[in-house]
Amino acid sequence: MVSFYSSDILILGTGGAGLRAAAEAQENGANLLVVSKAPAGYNNCTIVAGSGYLAAVGGMSIDEHRERTLSTGKGMNDPNLVDVLVKEGGKRVLELEKYGLIVNVRRGGIHVGGRDTKLGEGITLPMVEYLKKRKVDFVENTIITKLLKKEDRIVGAVGYDSIRKEPAIFQCKAIILATGGAGGLYKRTDCPLKTTGDGYALAYHVGAKLRDMEFVQFFPLALAEPGLPNLLVDGPVVEEGKIMNVLGEDIPKKHQVTERPFIAKSRDLLSRAMMKEIIRGDGVDDAVLIDAQDVIKRSAPGTSFGMGSYEFFVETLNADERPFRVAPICHHTMGGVITNTECETDIPGLYAAGEVVGGVHGANRHGGNALTDVTVFGARAGERASEYVKNLSYEPVEDLAQSELEKYDKLRERETGYTPETIMNLLRENMWENAGIIRDSFMLVDAYERIQEIRTTTRKMLAYPGRQMLFALEVFMALDASEMIVRAAMARSESRGAHFRTDHPEEDPKWIKTLIISKDENAMKIGTAPIGEAFN
Ligand SMILES: Cc1cc2nc3c(=O)[nH]c(=O)nc-3n(C[C@H](O)[C@H](O)[C@H](O)COP(=O)(O)OP(=O)(O)OC[C@H]3O[C@@H](n4cnc5c(N)ncnc54)[C@H](O)[C@@H]3O)c2cc1C
Repeated sequence: MVSFYSSDILILGTGGAGLRAAAEAQENGANLLVVSKAPAGYNNCTIVAGSGYLAAVGGMSIDEHRERTLSTGKGMNDPNLVDVLVKEGGKRVLELEKYGLIVNVRRGGIHVGGRDTKLGEGITLPMVEYLKKRKVDFVENTIITKLLKKEDRIVGAVGYDSIRKEPAIFQCKAIILATGGAGGLYKRTDCPLKTTGDGYALAYHVGAKLRDMEFVQFFPLALAEPGLPNLLVDGPVVEEGKIMNVLGEDIPKKHQVTERPFIAKSRDLLSRAMMKEIIRGDGVDDAVLIDAQDVIKRSAPGTSFGMGSYEFFVETLNADERPFRVAPICHHTMGGVITNTECETDIPGLYAAGEVVGGVHGANRHGGNALTDVTVFGARAGERASEYVKNLSYEPVEDLAQSELEKYDKLRERETGYTPETIMNLLRENMWENAGIIRDSFMLVDAYERIQEIRTTTRKMLAYPGRQMLFALEVFMALDASEMIVRAAMARSESRGAHFRTDHPEEDPKWIKTLIISKDENAMKIGTAPIGEAFN
């Protein structure tokens, strides 16, 4: 059996971007369907987010927001996208209240959620509820693996429903790609493991261009204590505590990391400094230490230090009595699909918003800007797609879907082989070791060759109907997304922002340009464009 759905707009993703796009499209009276590979609103980056939004509210001006975004992005941001982000950010974050979110204004932005809200649950869950009340339809646990176009225009998509255990064909007039990033491609990550870069692969294969894929952000300070979750550490513990190696040397001082707050502005430099200490053998079991005993003793119960509360730091971690271990962790992908300010890609009918899009954050993302990005551009995508679909007609899509359905059939045939998890773990290990925080040409060549080897193992991959089939389909897209990151990192022979190469350790003014990836026949093509001109 194959399920068949038809809607004017098909939204892929139920994180911040997809849900905001859906709300806008619904308000504009569009006929829409929202698909996600997990239950609606769950298992995405938004639901695990710290819920801080950077925007020109609470006393921060638009110019200050622009300056902070551009200086953190190290000359790589698309100034057109930044202009929209900073001018619309304030209005868009405040209006989240109308979707049932609890909005707390603070200097330079908002924080979403009440006292007992668990991370980003205060974002996605009220929005799903808001949309369901307004009769928006969701198709859950369904992975989209191919976008369909006819005469260069988007007409549908093909996917696999892991609960019904059957393929699904979607007919539509426009697609909003809101599939998030690729942090889950790295062994050590705070992103849900479902963030496998599917949207990059979907866009690439349908002929859209991508940019800046070499810029992957690592959050410097995640807990690395055995048996405890890798919670992000932030606030006074970081700013007033001492981040040190096993010899007691102050790592930021030693490596001249000066721009504070570290977590907002120096994620790239601090991650790199810590990793250098770990690689040199001056860490403790793949981690370094923070001594924050004094800060914690001075703090009041109820204070939060990033994702952990005072109580957690004192009662579970005993951080008031000893230094604790932290290490960098993969956190965000700055690169992605090329869009203009209207969220259009170069494929008519394909819109994109959120972490799947590249350019707004440049080479390094400022803290709080991702959630503002998904909100501002999610709304724009919903509005523009609603306009676009007016007066268009549906196209038959069954024939266009056939080759993908045959691929599913073939995958199901194997009875013995590697599980998709085994293959994905090989890929994650490879990306962490060879295409992570510190790179060089030899490591990147190794990363590339290893990806090709791992591709060959997919011929022996198991894909039993249901969840395993969904995991197997993710593997193919993860391999493509990984290859894009590695190829772009090989091409950029300089260090800038989150991309650091020991064989080209300095910024090179020649490289103030955007790296573009596109599909040329069956090969991955790399090109460049001047900053601000990637969309043509
Ligand atoms: C631990 C953590 C804390 C963070 N804290 C903050 C913060 O405080 N402030 C800030 O600005 N940023 C923060 N970020 C970054 C921010 O959360 C993300 O960049 C943002 O939420 C991405 O939203 P999105 O909607 O683009 O993607 P996501 O929220 O990741 O959603 C992607 C959606 O796409 C669906 N999907 C993916 N592929 C497919 C497919 N093939 N078929 C069907 N569906 C698919 C998924 O199921 C999911 O619903 C944080 C990130 C992490 C990991």
